[in-house]
Amino acid sequence: MEINLISDTVTKPTPEMLQAMFNAKVGDDVFKQDPTVNAFEKMVADLFGMEAALFFPTGTMANQTAIKLNTNPGDQIICDKWSHIHLYESGGASANSGVNFNLLDGNRGMITAAQVKEGINDPEFYHVPLSKMVGIENTTNKGGGACYEIEELQKIKQVCVDHNLKYHLDGARLWNAMIAKKQQPKQFGQLFDTISVCFSKGLGAPIGSVLLSDAETMHRALRIRKIFGGNLRQSGYLAAAGIYALQNNINRLEEDHRRAKELGTQLEQCSWVAVVEPVETNIVIFSPQPHIEDKIVIEKLKQKGISISIMSKGKLRIVTHLDYRQVMHEYVLETLEKINF
Ligand SMILES: *Cc1c(COP(=O)(O)O)cnc(C)c1O
Repeated sequence: MEINLISDTVTKPTPEMLQAMFNAKVGDDVFKQDPTVNAFEKMVADLFGMEAALFFPTGTMANQTAIKLNTNPGDQIICDKWSHIHLYESGGASANSGVNFNLLDGNRGMITAAQVKEGINDPEFYHVPLSKMVGIENTTNKGGGACYEIEELQKIKQVCVDHNLKYHLDGARLWNAMIAKKQQPKQFGQLFDTISVCFSKGLGAPIGSVLLSDAETMHRALRIRKIFGGNLRQSGYLAAAGIYALQNNINRLEEDHRRAKELGTQLEQCSWVAVVEPVETNIVIFSPQPHIEDKIVIEKLKQKGISISIMSKGKLRIVTHLDYRQVMHEYVLETLEKINF
C-alpha cells in the first residue's frame, strides 16, 4: 500500500470528476466565451456574496495578482512571518509588485488586530514604507492548519478601514476553516477586499484557484492575469472539476479533519514523539524527540509505504486528503503505534 500524506495536493481526480470534466461545454475563455468558466466564476462569486471572480491556474498567481491589485511599488504588506505570500511564492511579491513586508510574530501563523495596528507605519513619516495591505492566511499552512475566529478577522478589518489598508485573504484552505469553525463564505466575502481560494487542495480538483473581489477590481485583474501569462483558452474542462468539487467535496472535509485529529492523538502516545501541535483541520505538525533525526523518521515510514514531509528542521508534517481512505488510515495508525526508534 502506497500512502502519500505529504500534501492535500496529491489527490487525483475521481472517475466522477473526470466525467464532469469530459462533459464540459467549452469555448475560448480569453474572449470570455467559455460557458463553464463563466458559470464557475459566477457560482464562486455568488457563494461568497462578492461581485466578481476570476479563474486562475494556481493559488500563487491568484495571490500575486491580489498583491499587485492592492499595492504600488515601495509599499509594505503586513502579515505573519510564516505567510505563504512571503515564504513560498519565490519572492514574487518583490519581483512582481516591488513591495516589502512587515512580518508579524503571530501564533501558529495567525496575527491579531492589536499586532496589525502596532505594525502600521505612520503615513506622514515618509522615510518608511507606506503600509498598504494586510495579508491573512486561513487556514495557516506552516501554522499547521490553524484557523481564525471571525471576531478577530472583524477586528482586523476595522483596523484596515481606520488606516486605509487593503485586506487580502489567502484562502487556499479556507474550505477547511469554514468546515472546522462552521462559518459561511459570505462572512468572509463581507470582510475582505480580495480573497483567493484553491480547488486543487482539499477539494480534489487537478488545477485551479479563484480570486474574488468587486467588479472594478476584478476587471483590472484581467490585465494582470494576462501579464502573468495566466490566460487560458478552453479552461472549462478545468472549471468543471471546480464545479464538481464545490458540489461534492466540501462537507466530506470533516472526514479529513477527523483522521488528522486521530493521527495527532496517536502521535501523542508515541514515546519517540516530543510535541504534537494542536490539530484543528487536516494538517498535523509534530516534532520527534530531539535525538531522532527528521530524515530517519521519514525513511522508516517510507519503508512502510507511508510518505510524510519535513515542514522545517525538527518539525514533520502530515496532511490528510480525499485519497486517504479509511483502510489506509487504520494501517497508518497501527504503524505509528508499533514503530520505534
Ligand atoms: C498551496 C497554497 C497556496 C497556493 O499554492 P499553488 O501551489 O500556487 O496553488 C497559497 N497559499 C497557501 C497558504 C497555500 O497553502
